[in-house]
Amino acid sequence: MTFWQTDATHDPALASWVESAKGHRDFPVQNLPFGVFSPAGKAARIGVAIGDMILDLSACATAGLLPDATSGTTGSDSLNALMALPESDRRALRVRLSQLLTESDKRSAVEPHLHPANTCTLHLPARIGDYTDFYVGIHHANNVGRQFRPDNPLLPNYKYVPIGYHGRASSIRASGVPLVRPSGQRKPPEADTPVFGPSVRLDYELELGVWIGQGNDLGTPIAMAEAANHIAGFCLLNDWSARDFQAWEYQPLGPFLAKNFHSTISPWVVTPEAMAPFRMAQPPRPEGDPAPLDYLTDGKDRAHGALAVTLEVFLCSAKMREAGMEPFRLSHGPASNMYWTVQQIVTHHASNGCNLQPGDLLGTGTISAPTRDGFGSLLELTSGGKEPITLPTGETRTFLEDGDEVTLRATANAEGYVPIGFGECRAVVLPAR
Ligand code: MN
Repeated sequence: MTFWQTDATHDPALASWVESAKGHRDFPVQNLPFGVFSPAGKAARIGVAIGDMILDLSACATAGLLPDATSGTTGSDSLNALMALPESDRRALRVRLSQLLTESDKRSAVEPHLHPANTCTLHLPARIGDYTDFYVGIHHANNVGRQFRPDNPLLPNYKYVPIGYHGRASSIRASGVPLVRPSGQRKPPEADTPVFGPSVRLDYELELGVWIGQGNDLGTPIAMAEAANHIAGFCLLNDWSARDFQAWEYQPLGPFLAKNFHSTISPWVVTPEAMAPFRMAQPPRPEGDPAPLDYLTDGKDRAHGALAVTLEVFLCSAKMREAGMEPFRLSHGPASNMYWTVQQIVTHHASNGCNLQPGDLLGTGTISAPTRDGFGSLLELTSGGKEPITLPTGETRTFLEDGDEVTLRATANAEGYVPIGFGECRAVVLPAR
C-alpha cells in the first residue's frame, strides 16, 4: 500500500467502546499512536493511546490478541523493534487494534489491559541512536537569516540542499520533563569580549519530529520512491535554543551548545498509517525557484508528500499558573510551510550512504508561517527581542523567563475524516544551576 492510501481504520463512522475516545482532540480510534508508558508503580511497556486511556500492548500480546508477526516486538520497553517492522506488519497491527477497540465482542478481553492515562508516566518512545535537525521551514530560514545576515537572508544553497546538522540524542526528553536554563558563552553586542553565564535569550522552536523505521545499510542510499517506507511515525519537537550562545558560536561549524542542552518531544508516535488521510500535495515552489535535483524529485511525493497538520504554540508563565489562567496561544500555522517534504529529508540524509537506523529522530526545523501569527520561535515573534509580546497578565516577554511553560500541539485535519492530534509537547523552564 502507499503511504496516502486509507482503509477501514480511517472510517469516520468507527466508534470505540472506550467512551473517552469519541471526539477526543488527540486520540480518537482513528489515530492509535504508539508510545512507552509505566502504569503506576509498574515497569515501562509499550502502549497505544485511545481517548484518555492507554492500552498495554505487551499484555495484549501475552493474551494472544495481536498478530503473530508483531507480537514479538511488543514485549520491549522501547519501540525500536516495532518501528523496524515492514509497513505491512505495522498496518496489520493497526487493523487488529482498531478491531479490538471498536468491536463490542472484544471488549471483555481487552478492557482489563487499559490504564487511565492520568495514572501513567510516559517515557521516550525509543532509544534514539542519532538525532538530526533540518531547516526546512523556509519562512523561519528567511526571518532568522535576515537577523543574522540582513543583506543575505537565504544562502545560495538553501533551495538545492535540505540544510541540516547532527544534533545530540542523549539530551532529548519526553514531554513534561523540565529543562534547566543553560549557561554558556555569549558576547553582548556592546562588549569586546564574551562572558559566561545563564542564557538571557532562551527560546523554543516549533518543529515536527520524524521517526525512522526500517534503516538502510551503510553505503546504500534511499531512493525518493522508497523514503516513506523508512518512516515509522511523527511527533512534535521543541528544539530549545539559546540565541545568545548561538549567535556567538555558530560560525563556522554550526549549532553546538546553543542547541544540545535539552530537546523536548511529544511521547506518542503518530504512525504514517494514521496520517494517510492527512497527506496533501507539496505546495508548488515559488516562480523562479530551481527544481529539486533529480535524486530529490518524485511525482508521487510532490502530489502526496506534505502533511495537512496545524501547529500551535502556547506559553504559560508562573504568574498565569498561580492565577489559574489558561496557557496563552503565541502562534498557529500549517506544517505545509516546509520547503522540503519529510521524504526528501530522509532521502537527502541517506544520499551519501549514511545509514539511518530504527529509532533515529529527524527534526524538520522550525516551521513558521509567512505572517507573525504563525511564527514558530520568539526570535521571530519579538524581532530578535526588539518587540516584546504581552501576556494576559500584563507581563511582557522577549525571550523565556524561568517558570515559563511552553506547550506545542498539532492537529491533522482533512475533509471527510476525523481529526487526530499528536498530544502535548510541554516543558517548564527551571533556573540555571
Ligand atoms: Mn531547530
